[in-house]
Amino acid sequence: MDKIQEYLEHIHKLLHDNRIPELRGELAEDSLLLQIHDELKIIREVLFAFSSGDFSSAISIRGIIPGCLKSLQAHLRHLIWQVQMVEKGDFSQEVRFMGEFSTAFNSMVQRLNLSLSKLQEKEETLLDINNKLRKEVKRMEILRESEARFKFLASHDPLTGILNRRSFIEMAGVELANAIDLCVPCCFAMMDVDHFKDFNDAYGHLAGDEALRHVVRIVEEGLRKNDFMGRYGGEEFILFFYGADEKTGMKVLERLRTRLSGKSITVGTGSVTIHASFGLAGSNREKPEEKGYIQRLIDDADTALYAAKMAGRNRVMLYNPEQETRRHSVISNAYQDSGLTEEDETL
Ligand code: GH3
Ligand code: MG
Ligand code: MG
Repeated sequence: MDKIQEYLEHIHKLLHDNRIPELRGELAEDSLLLQIHDELKIIREVLFAFSSGDFSSAISIRGIIPGCLKSLQAHLRHLIWQVQMVEKGDFSQEVRFMGEFSTAFNSMVQRLNLSLSKLQEKEETLLDINNKLRKEVKRMEILRESEARFKFLASHDPLTGILNRRSFIEMAGVELANAIDLCVPCCFAMMDVDHFKDFNDAYGHLAGDEALRHVVRIVEEGLRKNDFMGRYGGEEFILFFYGADEKTGMKVLERLRTRLSGKSITVGTGSVTIHASFGLAGSNREKPEEKGYIQRLIDDADTALYAAKMAGRNRVMLYNPEQETRRHSVISNAYQDSGLTEEDETL
């Protein structure tokens, strides 16, 4: 009876104590107790391993308890695999053991699936919106580009790329008003290519177009920072010099004339030098009128240009009122010779 008591106490210790009790003396010689001792020891180790989350240990012994542990181990391993599958996006996983845990786990997976589907739907909507926005931005960019292009085309001369007459006058109007406010002198100049009809007749209209681009390139390169030019029409150009009195304006024009005369253009196998005549009118000669002041200055510059042509071309002339009288009388004589009057011509 004492021996049985000792056996039971040993088994009790194996089940309850933190440390594994040693089998001593007679107890160590009993093979059945030895076997029970070893099996319980293994079961303890497996349970300890489970409690710390390690489900890998395989139980080699047989029996109802090891069988239950093995089954639990297999379930837990499968559960780990299922969690991994859910993590990869497989929401069809369903747990069918551990009672309330399964219900909670399965409903959690279902909710996760639902939330993710909703998120996916939202993501698709967002992607759709994003695509629409990108298309809209692209469309706006194209519109902006074509608007800028349209503005450029409307304000520039297509052949030479410089300002056309209308936008030149607009820009000059702003600059002139500003110059008058600040008491800064400025000048208008008219430029006309000499004997250009002969050039066209000799080399053709396309070469004539290229020659006009050449003239603009040379003159533009010689302009100061605040000066600008426009195409007035045909082979006539108009220039605005900001902050230049007549003396300075004449110097600038003379420099431009010399530049042009110094650079020839290649035509066919030869090269031709293009010359131009210039007329200048300064803004400081008289008080600006409210209306038509710019046109008046342009007309004066044109009168000076006419004088430059009359004086032999390829030169620069400054406006003076006498040129006006001379121009008038030459034109009147020309009309009289042709049998027309100035009035007839304007009809
Ligand atoms: P002047 O020295 O008196 O100014 O003589 P000109 O021959 O230059 O003057 P005219 O007014 O007789 O002729 C101007 C010529 O300019 C005639 C016209 O065909 C040519 N012209 C005007 N615009 C263009 C153009 O865009 N391209 C070409 N190639 N020629 C043009
Ligand atoms: Mg000409
Ligand atoms: Mg002309």
